[in-house]
Amino acid sequence: MRIDRLEAVMITDSRGKPTLETTISANALSATASVPSGKSTGIHEAVELRGPDGNVAEAIANVNGEIARAIVGKRFSLDELDAALIKLDGTPNKSRLGANAILSVSIAAQRLLAMLEDIPLWKAIEKRAGTTAGAPRLFMNVMNGGVHADFKLPFQEYLVVVDGTTREAFATAKEAFEKLGERLDGVPMGDEGGYAPAFDQLEEPFEILAELVAQFPHTSIAIDAAASEFYRDGQYHILDASYSADDLARIYSGLVEKFPFHSIEDPFDEESAGDFTRFTASVGEKILVIGDDFTVTNPDRILKAREERAINAVLIKPNQIGTVKEAIEAVRATSAAGWKSVASHRSGETNDTFIADFAYGVGAHGIKAGGLGQKERMEKYYRLLAIEREAEHK
Ligand code: PEP
Ligand code: MG
Repeated sequence: MRIDRLEAVMITDSRGKPTLETTISANALSATASVPSGKSTGIHEAVELRGPDGNVAEAIANVNGEIARAIVGKRFSLDELDAALIKLDGTPNKSRLGANAILSVSIAAQRLLAMLEDIPLWKAIEKRAGTTAGAPRLFMNVMNGGVHADFKLPFQEYLVVVDGTTREAFATAKEAFEKLGERLDGVPMGDEGGYAPAFDQLEEPFEILAELVAQFPHTSIAIDAAASEFYRDGQYHILDASYSADDLARIYSGLVEKFPFHSIEDPFDEESAGDFTRFTASVGEKILVIGDDFTVTNPDRILKAREERAINAVLIKPNQIGTVKEAIEAVRATSAAGWKSVASHRSGETNDTFIADFAYGVGAHGIKAGGLGQKERMEKYYRLLAIEREAEHK
């Protein structure tokens, strides 16, 4: 496609923080994309360019200035465009132009190409990635803790995992979410649109969740421990106590024995590969051990984790790496290891639903799109439902 116009503007995300929305045009068609923002970010993520007060003025200026000058008026395939953006930035972590600036262009271009080809976005992603599209399991966030809810619960996310068609899975997850809401009546919502209750017993939320999922078919439970957020000085600090990695592994194993677990994400600090490896060796037959901060959607880090046999599933967040091309490469590296991928939103989200098309298009094992308490999360579920209808009518 020959790009005719590129323009970024500032919008606000679900936390009220500024982010970019970028519009790209070709052949009298335009597509828009906006980018999310994490809070429990991995230290090896591509760099989100922000000013000292959190503004994205420089990232916007980079899209409207340097990136526009480099690509407007020229012809690119999508892979050529992403490669040109990576080269133009010139740093290993996209810190010069900003992964937020680059990703907004990369996603807008992917969406525009689907429009030009008159095919659904998920179909265009499936074609580009060489994958087999299909409905991801819903990893619905129902309780927020960690940095997403002032550590009122020790772990960052408590999720209900639902298998099946999106229509069935969403109906089940919605009912479970609402049932939990009746039980937790009056508690506030956390960053990801799930409930944010406070419990001082580690097992209490799991007892509630186990009781909840027992009422629904094809359901299990999961957590994102986001353990780097409570790791200091070689110890894991949860619920007013500190634990070694071995102690923490024993805690997780006890939970896995007792409750119907599907997966644990980031069980240890992002730099503690050996602890991931030992843990995966002991529970990897039973549950998924998912890398997020640990692998940061980076194909090289996924390859390293493969050599270390550190995990058996990978969270895929396009904004951790900065282009759609590399996010697809991360999915490929994950599949090549024989592992599952779980596509994920960020805790600061916009109404953009790209992640839904991405998850479906690459045939991801699952998708994390948050709880039902925020419209930015609902948009992803609505898009997944629409995709399923599109796929049925093709
Ligand atoms: C996560 O850690 O998986 C997550 C979605 O949170 P954040 O966007 O804050 O990294
Ligand atoms: Mg995570």
